[in-house]
Amino acid sequence: MHELAIAENIVDTVCTRAAGRPVRRVTVRIGALTAVLPDAMRLCWDLAATGTAAHGAALDLDLRPAVVFCRACRTDQRLPDMIPLCPCGSADVTVTTGRELHIVSMEVA
Ligand SMILES: [Zn+2]
Repeated sequence: MHELAIAENIVDTVCTRAAGRPVRRVTVRIGALTAVLPDAMRLCWDLAATGTAAHGAALDLDLRPAVVFCRACRTDQRLPDMIPLCPCGSADVTVTTGRELHIVSMEVA
């Protein structure tokens, strides 16, 4: 479950930025290709935040679908899974969204 390590990393980052002030809310963008499971992330968030300045902070997840641009059919395609393959059969694709994993914003008291 890599979500715990990711959650701990995010908690460390926001607590450092908050510089001692309580953190109220954190928004994290997660792409479908990162293999981060939203439910596991929410669970790990509470664990990681316990006893820190982010204790009790709300976690908002901004989930992004996996989208590729296919050079063969020149269209954007939303992927149903984590395999970067266009429905037309071409693997000549560029990932447009889905690899995001970062803090979008945070609110402190
Ligand atoms: Zn295609």
